[in-house]
Amino acid sequence: MQTRPLSGKTALVTGSTSGIGLGIAHALAAEGANIVFNGFGDAALIADLQLQTATQFGVKTSYSNADVSKSVEIEQMMKTAIDEFGSIDILVNNAGIQYVANVEDFPVERWDAVIAINLTSAFHTTRLALPAMKKNNWGRIINIASAHGLVGSAGKSAYVASKHGIVGLTKVTALENSQTGITCNAICPGWVLTPLVQKQVDARAAAQNIPVEQAKRELLLEKQPSGEFVTPEQLGALAVFMCSSAASQVRGVAWNMDGGWVAQ
Ligand code: NAD
Repeated sequence: MQTRPLSGKTALVTGSTSGIGLGIAHALAAEGANIVFNGFGDAALIADLQLQTATQFGVKTSYSNADVSKSVEIEQMMKTAIDEFGSIDILVNNAGIQYVANVEDFPVERWDAVIAINLTSAFHTTRLALPAMKKNNWGRIINIASAHGLVGSAGKSAYVASKHGIVGLTKVTALENSQTGITCNAICPGWVLTPLVQKQVDARAAAQNIPVEQAKRELLLEKQPSGEFVTPEQLGALAVFMCSSAASQVRGVAWNMDGGWVAQ
């Protein structure tokens, strides 16, 4: 096979058993990167996913079932991956959850879970990936934030706080490594039709007693002027660009791909 831009590199993508993370993992594998999958799901389906990715793209794959809300499990995942591949050259902090309630009704344990998974996990993976990246003087850290890393929405206090937080972590990580070959950037998607958003569509349809298709359209148009979902493939293409040498001076940005959401 012809040498591809990311051949010989290893990418760890948290939350890559579904949705955006899976789209990004596939896009990086298509460029030749070995993939460390992570996330929850049916064990047989995940084994299949690993095998299919390895076969289709001619790369090595592995999987960690680490729960990224737990620092001990993240430490184990990072150690195992670095022992196996030598380094994690590309770290995509993607795992994330949502919970919707007004601040005064927000369950404390849900707040803690959203912050742990959406924000604190990226601190742990980043601190553990950096030493090997520094040794190689090359690395790409891509944090999947959200349009909600740039603007707020009612009912999403923990999510919006976590996503604004990860944009801040992105800037500091980029600055601390600004004179190295390691870049850190955030991607801020608008609505993407993944299981995370399907739950919100279904909740809206149930609450308003309207068909799911109508709920989907209304949810989109409320925020996203294009009226179309962003796709995991489009986000994967942006991640691939961020890994390229053309992007070596893209540092500390929060890059929205959101159908015009935050332009309003
Ligand atoms: P998804 O629910 O399809 O996927 C989430 C992934 O994270 C899954 O693989 C899941 O198993 C994993 N995960 C959840 N909790 C975990 C934990 N504790 N430990 C390990 N893995 C865990 O969601 P998605 O829409 O693909 O979201 C991916 C990221 O993109 C999230 O950070 C989300 O906030 C962000 N995002 C999504 C949208 C959207 O519209 N879907 C928009 C902006 C940002």
